[in-house]
Amino acid sequence: MALNPDPRVALPTYGRNLLAGLPEALLERPIVLTQPEPWDLVKAAFPNDRTQVHHVATMEHSVVQEVTTAFTGGSAVFGIGGGSALDHAKFTAWKTGLPLVLVPSILSVDAAYTKAIGIREGSRVRYVGAMFPDHFLIDYGILQAADPLLNRAGVGDILSIFTALWDWREAGTRLGEFHDAGIAAASEDLLQRMFDGAVEIGNCTEAGLHLLSELYVGEVRLCEMVGNARPEEGSEHYIAYCLEHQTRRHYLHGALVGMGVLLAGAIQGQDIAPVQRFLRDVQLDSSYRAVGTTRDEVRRCLLSMGDYVRHESQLLPGVFHFRGDIDATAADAALATAALGE
Ligand SMILES: [Zn+2]
Repeated sequence: MALNPDPRVALPTYGRNLLAGLPEALLERPIVLTQPEPWDLVKAAFPNDRTQVHHVATMEHSVVQEVTTAFTGGSAVFGIGGGSALDHAKFTAWKTGLPLVLVPSILSVDAAYTKAIGIREGSRVRYVGAMFPDHFLIDYGILQAADPLLNRAGVGDILSIFTALWDWREAGTRLGEFHDAGIAAASEDLLQRMFDGAVEIGNCTEAGLHLLSELYVGEVRLCEMVGNARPEEGSEHYIAYCLEHQTRRHYLHGALVGMGVLLAGAIQGQDIAPVQRFLRDVQLDSSYRAVGTTRDEVRRCLLSMGDYVRHESQLLPGVFHFRGDIDATAADAALATAALGE
């Protein structure tokens, strides 16, 4: 398997009031996909009479297609908000061929960093195309106006490196799967940089937000080089998916993945103390209560992980594939080590 040595990735511009610095031609007849709160923050930057605004409520394929077709003309497509607004803007720019401007309002989602366009078809998420922004604005003023928790939660998909790298290395050793030590080391370095910046990220300072954004850029690049998500996704996400499936509830992704890292790390036999320290310093509570679940639900989930990964055959092998079923003793030991509450 060959690495892609220099994949294309979206590169952000950092600062404040960045919309004001865009080329005027983009604001001739803008199409804006957004949500009420971020739109309130930025609408003064858009011409009242020539702006077509849509508040994104769903990413259902047929609706997204309908909304896209209803726009007339347009000088550029702006995605301003959370994951749905950004994905919708990517879709609309992809279909219309107009320039794309992405402005995340929170850093808890990676939609602005990845080229994939995620849309929904019923309960399934499908990726329908690839789109890079012409302008990618990380505006500190916009991010700092959001609930700090929604930025802190962005650490989850970097923290997952902690357990994903263990899975990947073991899959290399046990199954002969392709494993690249250089990529793994670079991924580990991203994790260490995040640990070192925990307090800044937790306080959502400019330095902290800049760091978190650069870590996303680095991580997306490493995954593109390998051609899969091995550097950042593994058994911690499988626990998250399984819990979502079993409880039929949605959770704040970063907090849920934080919980998954503690549990998967414990089952892998890793020392999870550095992760616990980091979660405390970054002020991201990943206890059962904060995540919105209970010890019983999580215990049931751990006991069924063997079945779950056998059934979800698209998941790359990790600790739940290697260990087979987790029995009650092992589940209770992991729950005790992770110390997520009562
Ligand atoms: Zn994730």
